[in-house]
Amino acid sequence: ALCRPSMGLSASLAKPSTLLPRQTRRSLQDIAITRTGKPIIRLSGGRSSLGGHTVTVFGATGFLGRYVVNRFAQAGCTVVVPFREEMAKRHLKVSGDLGRVVFLEMDLRNTASIEESVRHSDIVFNLIGRDYPTKNFDLEDVHVEGTHRIANAVAKYDVDRFIHVSSHSAHPQSTSEFYKTKYYSERIAREIFPETTIVRPAPMFGFEDRLLHHLASATNVITSNHMLERFRPVHAIDVGEALEKIGLDDSTAGQTFELYGPKEYSMKDIHELVDREILKKRRHINIPKAILAPSMGLLNKVLWWVISSKDQVEREFIDQFIDKNAKTFVDLGIEPGEISNFTYKYLHAYRSAAYYDLPPMTEKEKREEKKYLHVLD
Ligand code: NDP
Repeated sequence: ALCRPSMGLSASLAKPSTLLPRQTRRSLQDIAITRTGKPIIRLSGGRSSLGGHTVTVFGATGFLGRYVVNRFAQAGCTVVVPFREEMAKRHLKVSGDLGRVVFLEMDLRNTASIEESVRHSDIVFNLIGRDYPTKNFDLEDVHVEGTHRIANAVAKYDVDRFIHVSSHSAHPQSTSEFYKTKYYSERIAREIFPETTIVRPAPMFGFEDRLLHHLASATNVITSNHMLERFRPVHAIDVGEALEKIGLDDSTAGQTFELYGPKEYSMKDIHELVDREILKKRRHINIPKAILAPSMGLLNKVLWWVISSKDQVEREFIDQFIDKNAKTFVDLGIEPGEISNFTYKYLHAYRSAAYYDLPPMTEKEKREEKKYLHVLD
């Protein structure tokens, strides 16, 4: 049993865990032998336990990154967080015990810094991605060249697992530069490191998303395709859980996963869902693509804050495409959440104070004077 990758000692020596009392189950340690033959003590004791994997998360400072870092750091693993901006990574420090979340300064064009970030790790996640081109990095630089450098470093140090996060609808003939470069990022990762696991998430929703919060916060929602694009929104927390399971299960090496929600929506459906939840009506303005796309291209060059991009306008005309050969949540034993069950949780703060629904006052509260009146809007 020791020689089989990911096969736990306890699995062969102990009674089935379901028969053990809870206390005994928590103190069990499981030895896993990695692909390269390294013994890893798998932990079940929480963030202060000693042992576990060493995991590098590129792109940890983004939306999805915190859910991945949190899961591994909470389980007592050492998490290496390559970063490029001091302030963007601070919140990740507290997800693990002292010394367990290790920050390393990294630049996507600096091979030495990338190698430094991966050389002690046994699992590497690449979550780096950009929706729009920036002054210094176009989409090809971020997705293709960036992945090329990371995969090279992973191969050089023969890291056990490499999990590359691509995107839904990645296709070489796509009219969107984003989907096209994501496809080439997958190809280059597999060419360099054939055991790469590819994960393609659908548009994600959650606390820091660019879907629900974009629709809820904009005074005017500007689109080009009358919000007709269709997709299957997925909960970022489910994607985080799936990435953890994939990272810990060596049998997923070399496989492709598409992670999408249980129901298909059009952007218009989501817009209506958001309006209903925030009890407001956001104005929708449709501008033809021939005008909006070039203006976005121009505005992106002169404005120094993020608005949208020419490619994001293009993506409005592409429905989510699902690869039927790819594995999905079912293969990981996860039941994905449905967006309409989470809109209250993520959007209630956008409601006006006029709708602030207080629970009925108790006799004690009626006697005492109310100290604060919260005005949210
Ligand atoms: P975010 O945009 O929130 O985060 C992207 C991460 O990539 C950040 O950590 C960012 O670092 C890093 N990054 C971007 N450009 C560079 C660069 N030039 N050099 C170094 N680091 C860079 O993405 P999400 O967390 O939302 O998504 C994670 C992955 O999933 C991405 O690859 C994305 O393309 C993909 N995806 C996301 C979807 C979604 O709905 N959010 C849908 C489909 C795919 P910094 O903080 O320093 O900018």
